[in-house]
Amino acid sequence: MNLIIKNGVLVTAGEVFKADILATDGKIEAISTQIDTEGEVIDASGKFVCPAGVEIHTHIDGILHGMRTVDDWFCASLGAAAGGTTTVVDFPMQDQDKTLRETIEAYIQRAAGKSIVDFAFTPIISQYNDETYREIPELIAEGFPTFKVFMYYNWKVNDYDLARVLDVTGTNGGLVHIHCENAGTIDYLADKAIREGKTGVEWHAPTRPVSTEVEATHRVIQVAGELGVPVLIVHMSAGQAVEEVAKGRARGVKVYGEAMPHFLLLDNSIYQRPGYEGMKYVITPPLRDKVNQEILWANLRSGALQTVGSDHCAFPYKDKIRLFETRGAIFPMIPHGAPGIETRIPLIFSEGVSKGRLSLTRFVEVVSTNPAKFAGLYPQKGTLAIGSDADIVIIDPEMEVVISNDMLHGNTDYTPFEGWKLKGYPVTTICRGKVLIRDREFVSQPGGGQFLKRKQFEAF
Ligand code: MN
Ligand code: MN
Repeated sequence: MNLIIKNGVLVTAGEVFKADILATDGKIEAISTQIDTEGEVIDASGKFVCPAGVEIHTHIDGILHGMRTVDDWFCASLGAAAGGTTTVVDFPMQDQDKTLRETIEAYIQRAAGKSIVDFAFTPIISQYNDETYREIPELIAEGFPTFKVFMYYNWKVNDYDLARVLDVTGTNGGLVHIHCENAGTIDYLADKAIREGKTGVEWHAPTRPVSTEVEATHRVIQVAGELGVPVLIVHMSAGQAVEEVAKGRARGVKVYGEAMPHFLLLDNSIYQRPGYEGMKYVITPPLRDKVNQEILWANLRSGALQTVGSDHCAFPYKDKIRLFETRGAIFPMIPHGAPGIETRIPLIFSEGVSKGRLSLTRFVEVVSTNPAKFAGLYPQKGTLAIGSDADIVIIDPEMEVVISNDMLHGNTDYTPFEGWKLKGYPVTTICRGKVLIRDREFVSQPGGGQFLKRKQFEAF
């Protein structure tokens, strides 16, 4: 089965050039200006042909804050594909009575037969016991090299286990992704605010101040540096925290940072909107002051941020309101999370490339190539090269789209980016040579996504 993409401008993390691509049996067989083979042809004239997106930060069909996220693997993967992504590495939660292996196996069953894109899992560790530490090296060796650690929430790590989990994972070829917030300070500030009658959504951000992210980020980097192991700081929101990553990297610590569209593009004035509107944006860390945004963009361009994730966590607005109202009407009861899997690449292309903040090659690097490297999937995923999977997104740089929740494929009742006017949009998405989205229409069927085993992490 041959698929030929003709007349497009190819973009990788390294170069931009005119060529055609031949995909055969799901792999890239040839990249050339003269492909004469027979097959299905897609004309990409006037468009960019990029490696499809790799998304390594989602919470699909998972239980968080006592509530199940409302996107199942079909609609989440359909959103991913419509937004130009064909690989999703999700964060399943380890239940109290489950091993990490059982966690992964259970979530494979949730995705199999539903996901239209390829998938893998980075389990969230909740049980820091001997069984978990015995499993980590085994799992890395078997193709599961990534683990998620939290410094906030009931399943947070203590300082002893922070060192142990970074050490056991890093010295065995794995990579820890870590959520950095100082839990004790945040809980104290929240309790204090509530005692003072400050109970509304507008207190979500002030009780999780920048200092709590900076302190936790600093602590992780010191520990990782001491042990000589790598670590990825997820969802960086604050310029000062990014500076901690930059300082660590400057002295040789293998620390990396993840950016997100909402921190690059939205600010905390949203929490002051009337009524419950701010609840749509209750995420952790919270949105920050606008001054942070240009620092984040500068570091994404060339610096301490190497990847963009969405933190897709689909809780409907109506349920955020309902849980707030039924759990005592205090802001800590609002479920944390917002949808974003489908808008990640469109926003970064439009606000990054079209507005001149990111080069084309850097765009591809941060939405596809580097996330593939963090996941242990490069160069199978994340590039256009002979022998790589034929995972391709064709982007029309002239297409203008106004984001509305109606056009998106998820089950939530809102998008944080309603009404945003974008220039440039993914039009066709291909996974292992199979067209999933053609001219923005879904042309495949549920299932077909493959579970991916992965390689050990290699520092870059
Ligand atoms: Mn988080
Ligand atoms: Mn998350």
